[in-house]
Amino acid sequence: MSLFATRAYELGWTVRSKPSGILDHVTLSCDAGHTTQVTPVTALHPKLGSTIVRAPEGSTFLLDAGMKHMALPGATDLAAFPMALEECEHCAEKRWEEAARASFAAYVIEADLRILTDATSPNGYPAKRVRCLHGHEFIITAMDPRTPMRVPDRKFGPGWTWRDFTISAMDSPTPGRLPEGVYGFAKGPGSAGNPCVTCHSISQKPKLVEFRRRAREQNVMLLDVMSDRVIQTVRLCCVAGHLTSVSINIGLKRELLCARCSRAGARPEPTVYYVVANGAMVKPGISSGDGRGRLDTHRTQHGLGQVRRLITDLPVGAAHDVERHVLDCLAGQGIRPVMGSEYFDAAHIDRVLELADGWFAANLPNFSWTVNS
Ligand SMILES: [Zn+2]
Ligand SMILES: [Zn+2]
Ligand SMILES: [Zn+2]
Repeated sequence: MSLFATRAYELGWTVRSKPSGILDHVTLSCDAGHTTQVTPVTALHPKLGSTIVRAPEGSTFLLDAGMKHMALPGATDLAAFPMALEECEHCAEKRWEEAARASFAAYVIEADLRILTDATSPNGYPAKRVRCLHGHEFIITAMDPRTPMRVPDRKFGPGWTWRDFTISAMDSPTPGRLPEGVYGFAKGPGSAGNPCVTCHSISQKPKLVEFRRRAREQNVMLLDVMSDRVIQTVRLCCVAGHLTSVSINIGLKRELLCARCSRAGARPEPTVYYVVANGAMVKPGISSGDGRGRLDTHRTQHGLGQVRRLITDLPVGAAHDVERHVLDCLAGQGIRPVMGSEYFDAAHIDRVLELADGWFAANLPNFSWTVNS
């Protein structure tokens, strides 16, 4: 009885009725006034206890998940059985919920999501419509899925936790576009760090991964949001500024994704560095020729109408080098893109220009830049 009293106290319970023996039903209450009923014997030894007394109605301590670890009477490792009385599950749930809500803002930043609007969720939790860096929009609960849950939850069966529930309920019935109200977390290890199911699905398809890799390698801007299907055609703007479109399968069959460059049979050498911006975003980039095709595309596709830097006729390799320098420095300073991998919040315009200007001053002091907006 004293072991029971101590354990109940440690877990934040107050014993409301005075038990006369270990088989009596006892009412416990937490500081918030939630109550539960237990019998001391079952609270301390659920397996043994439940063979002696029936679990009280509405009791919260019989945990199926833990049962298999418990020693049977007569077994030698009796020390191994856990105490089955737990802290108040309502209060633990509330604490978890508060912690998960509080760290959602940090989670969104670390998972590179942009919050678009408030949304409604079927489970009553707050939710947000968000967009990943690759342009996929979906709804997630406005809670950090990495928040550990301390108490196993009986509502969803043995072995489930709130965290599992938060993630797995978000499985899309149709992979790809997520209907309203279906959550966008991918399931499985690491899914909390990769919350977009479409990106997750793309990462599982070698052809799509390869297509994305080649687009990056060839400095091709994809103008359409890629779906997770291999049968799709995307519009693109190549490094020379040609606007074309290509299907995944055809793109993978030829060396260059751009149809015009492909016909010409030559890979354009990037010799242009530019920085374009508007009130919301800034984008550094590279091109070839006079760079006009790329700048026009940025203006029409993304509203990036201000040309803050345009440096042409660079020696071979310089455009790549300055681009790498700027992107590496931004990453090193913790500045994350808001779209794709090279579109940053307009708040960083000065930083982007400074980094490029610094690189030119140090490496190509005789080059001048022009601005025409
Ligand atoms: Zn409580
Ligand atoms: Zn995505
Ligand atoms: Zn081209």
